[in-house]
Amino acid sequence: MSSTALPQHEQQAIDSVPKRLLIGGRWVDGERGTLAVEDPATGNTLTEVADASPADARKALDAAVAAQGDWARTPPRERGEILRRTFDAISARADELALLMTLEMGKPLAESRGEISYGAEFLRWFSEEAVRIDGRYSVNPAGGNRLLTMRQPVGPCLLITPWNFPLAMGTRKIGPAIAAGCTMVVKPAEQTPLSMLALAQILGEAGLPDGVLNIVTTSTAREVSAPLIADSRLRKLSFTGSTEVGKALVSQSAEGLLRTSMELGGNAPFIVFEDADLDAAVEGALVAKMRNGGEACTAANRFHVAKPVAAEFSERLAARLKELRIGRGTEPDVDLGPLIDNIQRGKVSELVEDAVARGASTLTGGSSVPGPGYFYDATVLADVPTGSRLLSEEVFGPVAPVASFETEAEAIASANDTQYGLVAYLYTSDLKRALRVTEALETGMVGLNQGLVSNPAAPFGGVKQSGFGREGGPEGIAEYLSTKYVAINVD
Ligand code: NAD
Repeated sequence: MSSTALPQHEQQAIDSVPKRLLIGGRWVDGERGTLAVEDPATGNTLTEVADASPADARKALDAAVAAQGDWARTPPRERGEILRRTFDAISARADELALLMTLEMGKPLAESRGEISYGAEFLRWFSEEAVRIDGRYSVNPAGGNRLLTMRQPVGPCLLITPWNFPLAMGTRKIGPAIAAGCTMVVKPAEQTPLSMLALAQILGEAGLPDGVLNIVTTSTAREVSAPLIADSRLRKLSFTGSTEVGKALVSQSAEGLLRTSMELGGNAPFIVFEDADLDAAVEGALVAKMRNGGEACTAANRFHVAKPVAAEFSERLAARLKELRIGRGTEPDVDLGPLIDNIQRGKVSELVEDAVARGASTLTGGSSVPGPGYFYDATVLADVPTGSRLLSEEVFGPVAPVASFETEAEAIASANDTQYGLVAYLYTSDLKRALRVTEALETGMVGLNQGLVSNPAAPFGGVKQSGFGREGGPEGIAEYLSTKYVAINVD
């Protein structure tokens, strides 16, 4: 984990970011010193950021609690304008922020630019939602009383985010929380804190009052967040990450009956029927599988393809994946960056080896790339047998396992045969079948003849063990509002 000199523009991008905790509007040191941020393309340390203790996190919650009253009373238009100015500033600095993201997370620059734009759009969307928080007034059906409802901010929130989309997973929570009038403590993933720190700085420059957003970076996530979750002043926990950690957090939240939103793991099926436009299906598969190098909760995890077209689909997908250029994401023309760390790469290798040992055939890839960094080949496995771990576990890497099916009922049963229920992709040109299968899929989202569902104007979220709650769309701000009903006597 040595440090080596970076090219000047890379060093500048890193130097521009505050590396300390943000508490009550002040950048302060962490009680536990610092934690290293690594470049996954080289394994070298990029920089160090503050490592918070539970006492630091408590101070962050103190600041959020102190700021809550004034912030809830701040006019919605003002809250919206801060978000809008932040959207503008991020858009103006997109290249620099994309470089920062690529350095800490590894994805190619073009993908980081895509995430900067996607992430910033949540701020624009919620800047528009801030002024549309409404209530209703109605007459009691029996006459007499009147019914008034108002929607108020839930209060101080803890927002915990993963490393795979270092900015967007933050703005999907921070945007609606700010719009709704909530204050917050944000705990970004330890692997990728820099994008979030940069966002916090920009929000401050855009006029966000001190204490509304507090950032706690730490190497001890559980130790630091558990006391906050147990603190009765905290009113909401929103988490994006693995199902395993999500379950533990829901269980901790049960004690105080904390409101929770859980955006958890996925295991998306990608179904291709015989009547599908195969060109479109292969293009869609590329996006659904390879966006973010497969390290996305929405990544197509397994391909269920109608038997008559399965071989052709597998070969065409393999041909496309073979063309991808692997390398450090900062280099021009790179299509596929490294995985986030060696643990993640080990898991991908293990799942591929398991499928191959059971009889799957490797059409392309199938191994780690030697050298520094955590690279893994873009891989297509054909004829993946039932029972392979790849079909039931989240791969989180550039591996496409293809299995075939004979009937529509079999396709639906295979697609639903998982504890997860985030998203499914479906390719068919038969409208009746499209609607029939869409209704039968046990997921929160469906990509119908489309390999990408993420959209700030849409409700993103899952069912089953992919969690609950929605991010984006009008639903996204509702997660940060409580409804108060007032019974009015007019007699
Ligand atoms: P993770 O669950 O290991 O970590 C996520 C966050 O939780 C990090 O900030 C981490 O520090 C923190 N954390 C870990 N253990 C904790 C604990 N005991 N208490 C409190 N915080 C804790 O997940 P990851 O590896 O960073 O991210 C990958 C996972 O996230 C995948 O399963 C992926 O599907 C999921 N994900 C889901 C969505 C969605 O919207 N549904 C989006 C992106 C990623």
